[in-house]
Amino acid sequence: MSDEQPQAHAAAFLESLREVVGLKSALRETRDDVNVPMIRHWCDAMSDHNPSYTDPDGAAKSVHAGVVAPPSMLDTWAMVGLAPRGEQLSDDGRPVGMLPVMEKLDAAGFTSVVATNTSHDYMRYLRPGDRLRLRSFVMDVSPQKKTFLGEGHFFTTATEYLDAKNQVVGRIEFRVLKFKPGTGTISVDATAPPGPLPRPRPAISRDTKFFWDGVDQGELRIQKCKGCSALHHPPMVRCPKCGGYDLGYVVASGRGTVYSHAEAHHPQFPMFDYPLVAVLVELEEGTRLLTHMVGVAEDEVEIGMPVELAIRATDPELNLPLFGRARPPRRETTLRFEDVKAGDDLDPCPVPITPTLIVGGAMASRDFQDVHHDPDLARKRGSPNIFMNIMTTGGLTTRYVTDWAGPEAILRNMRFRLGAPNYPGDLMTFRGQVNSAAPRGGKGIVEIGVQGMNQLGAHVSGTLELELPRR
Ligand SMILES: [Zn+2]
Repeated sequence: MSDEQPQAHAAAFLESLREVVGLKSALRETRDDVNVPMIRHWCDAMSDHNPSYTDPDGAAKSVHAGVVAPPSMLDTWAMVGLAPRGEQLSDDGRPVGMLPVMEKLDAAGFTSVVATNTSHDYMRYLRPGDRLRLRSFVMDVSPQKKTFLGEGHFFTTATEYLDAKNQVVGRIEFRVLKFKPGTGTISVDATAPPGPLPRPRPAISRDTKFFWDGVDQGELRIQKCKGCSALHHPPMVRCPKCGGYDLGYVVASGRGTVYSHAEAHHPQFPMFDYPLVAVLVELEEGTRLLTHMVGVAEDEVEIGMPVELAIRATDPELNLPLFGRARPPRRETTLRFEDVKAGDDLDPCPVPITPTLIVGGAMASRDFQDVHHDPDLARKRGSPNIFMNIMTTGGLTTRYVTDWAGPEAILRNMRFRLGAPNYPGDLMTFRGQVNSAAPRGGKGIVEIGVQGMNQLGAHVSGTLELELPRR
C-alpha cells in the first residue's frame, strides 16, 4: 500500500468532520429561566459569598440594583441535567453542532474526550427571570495531532446565548480534544496523585484518643479542663493549671496564625516530603500546635501569617491535622480602578479539593457525567479518581478574582486553559497578578492573569477582564 492512500483517507475524514463547521443550530430554549435556587446551589458549592448573587438587600443597593447570577454560570443554564441530550438541528433540519463530529470521531476510534480551553464573554449579567435561548456551531476541527494524551482532533464549538429581546448576552467557546486512548506518551499512572506515604504512626493512648478520633472526623479537638476551663495541647492526663482530672474538649475553629517556623534539612527520612516545613500554629482559641504546612513553600512562611486547618490523608489509614495558607478575606468594598496598577499581586488563595467540592460543583452546574461523582466509573474510564469539572474550575476562578476586586467589580470575560486534573485530597492554590489596567471609554478595565496550581502542576491558567468603578 502506498503512503498516499492513508493520507488521502485522513484528508477525506477531516473534510467529513468539517462538514458542519460554521453551521448554526436553530435557537433552542434553556430548560429553566435564570432562577434563585440554582444561583444559591452554585454559590454554596463554590463557597462564593458575593452579596450580589444571594443577598437581595445588598444587591439592591449595588451597581446591579438587584440580585444577579454569577457570570460563570452561563453554560449551566443550558445544561439539560439527566434528561437525554437532544440532537441539534439547523433551521433547515440538518444535524449540526458537536454531536455529528463526536459520533464520527467515536466511530473512528477517537473515543476519549478532554476539555482543554474555554473562553467566556459576558455582555451583561443575567437576572432571575431571564429566559435564555441558545444556538451553537462548530468553529473549527483540527487535523489529526499527536498529544501527550494520545492522537486526536481538537475542535472548538461556540455557543451564543440570547435573551427574550433577542440580544446576545453571552458567548462561550469550548475546545476539546477527542483522542484514541492508549496512543499517548503518558500512562494513566503518570496522572495519578502521589501514592501513599508510609508516615510514622502517632502513638495513640487513652488520653489522646479523642484527639485522633476528631482528626478522623475532620475536627481539631483541644483538651479543656471541666474544672477551670483551661485549654491545653498536647492532651495531658491532668490539668496543668488546677490539677483536675475531669477533662473534656472543645472543637477548634481551625483558624490560627504562624507563631514560629523552621525547616528540617538533615537527616532526611523517606517517609516525609521535603522541603519539610514545621510550624508552631497559634490557634484562635489561644493554644499552640506543632504541625506541618501544606501548599506553602518555606520562604513563603512568615510569623503572623493567617493559616487554616487542612486535614490530609497521608495514606489510607492516617489523617493528619496539617495547616495551609488561610483563604484571603473577601473584599466588601470594591477596589477603585485608580488603586490598581499593572504588576500588583493578588494574595494567594488555597482551595482544598474535597469530594464535596467536586461533586457539589458538578451537581450545581447540572453536570451529571459519572467521572465527576462516581469513583468506580471514573476508574473504568482510565482516571484514578473522580475529578473536578470545567464549570467548577470556572466558578472558583471567578470567585478568586471577584473576592479580590469586590462585589461591584463586573466580569467581562474569562479565558483559560485546563491542565492537571483536580483530584480529591489535593490542594489547589490560586495566584494572580494584574497584567494591565487601562481606562477604556470612561471605564476602568483591568486584566488579571490567574494560575491554579495543584500537586501535579497547573490545573488552570488564564486571564479575566474586570470593569472597576472609577473615582
Ligand atoms: Zn483545670
